[in-house]
Amino acid sequence: MPADHDRRRIAFIFPIYNEEENIELLHRTVDETIAPLVDKYDFSFVYVDDGSRDRSMDLLAALSGRDARVTVIELSRNFGHQMAVTAGLDLVDADAAIIMDSDMQDPPRVALELIAKWEEGFDVVYAQRRSRQDSAFKKLTAGAFYWFLRKMASVEIPRNTGDFRLIDRKVVDELRKYREQDRFLRGLISYIGFKQTAVLFDRDKRHAGVTGYPLRKMLRFAADGILGFSVAPLRMITRLGYLISLLSFLGILYVLGVKLFAPTTAVPGWAFITAAMFFLGGIQIIMLGVLGSYIGRTYSQVQNRPLYGVASVRSGSPVDAGQVA
Ligand code: UDP
Ligand code: MG
Repeated sequence: MPADHDRRRIAFIFPIYNEEENIELLHRTVDETIAPLVDKYDFSFVYVDDGSRDRSMDLLAALSGRDARVTVIELSRNFGHQMAVTAGLDLVDADAAIIMDSDMQDPPRVALELIAKWEEGFDVVYAQRRSRQDSAFKKLTAGAFYWFLRKMASVEIPRNTGDFRLIDRKVVDELRKYREQDRFLRGLISYIGFKQTAVLFDRDKRHAGVTGYPLRKMLRFAADGILGFSVAPLRMITRLGYLISLLSFLGILYVLGVKLFAPTTAVPGWAFITAAMFFLGGIQIIMLGVLGSYIGRTYSQVQNRPLYGVASVRSGSPVDAGQVA
């Protein structure tokens, strides 16, 4: 079929980390879901293998051999979810990109609603969770994180959204200019702006396999969100400094008061001194940590390394290969 340039092109981006049990089902389901729209749009699929240790890469290679709409980017090791999506966005060549998890937690049918909103003229359509089928722990930590982020962040980052969203080519082009190392894509997309809207959905359970986000990665991710979009922790240091100065000033008044007006009252000095020492020591270490977090980010940015390494790209259709890395 000759390329018809009137047809708008939509590409799906799937980050893959140990998803051998989900890839086939995912591809089949998405393919069935978009079937009613194939007369209207040209669809393509970008799978980014983020250094999977299972058979995912073999399955993807087979998939790209079978389906000309499939492109597979193989990263040279595990760079993490946000980098995998970034690699996909760098390579994709379409009028809109739909970013979706590969474990069936983001229901493919919602993609149709994202496309419908895009047709209405929105440039970013994010899927917002009405409910989610995750562990109580995940729900609790995610709830606390979004609450905190909203309080601190310098941009409005919508609550209860993951990276599941459709973004117009304009936004993809803009996003490619942001080469920061510690990436929090949903924050960057909010920051970039354009016409944004939400579609509500119910998040499903992971179909098979285990989460690629253990607690350690989750904390790191949360820190990227907060440090990347807020200097509130830095300001907190100053406020705390004022507070402690005020408290010690009150302490001095108290000591002077005792000395002047009740010289016979003995204050057990060591207890107060020890407590104050530990208190201040703790605060100082915490604040060094806060400074360190920002210095660390500055350092990794100054190193200016490429964001990820690409081991191979297989494609049945044209891609924007010049962009990758
Ligand atoms: N993922 C990835 N690299 C990683 C971890 C995860 O590409 O290091 C992918 C994973 O295959 C999935 C998506 O990112 O498509 C979301 O990960 P996961 O479902 O494990 O996270 P959760 O839903 O538990 O937060
Ligand atoms: Mg998941």
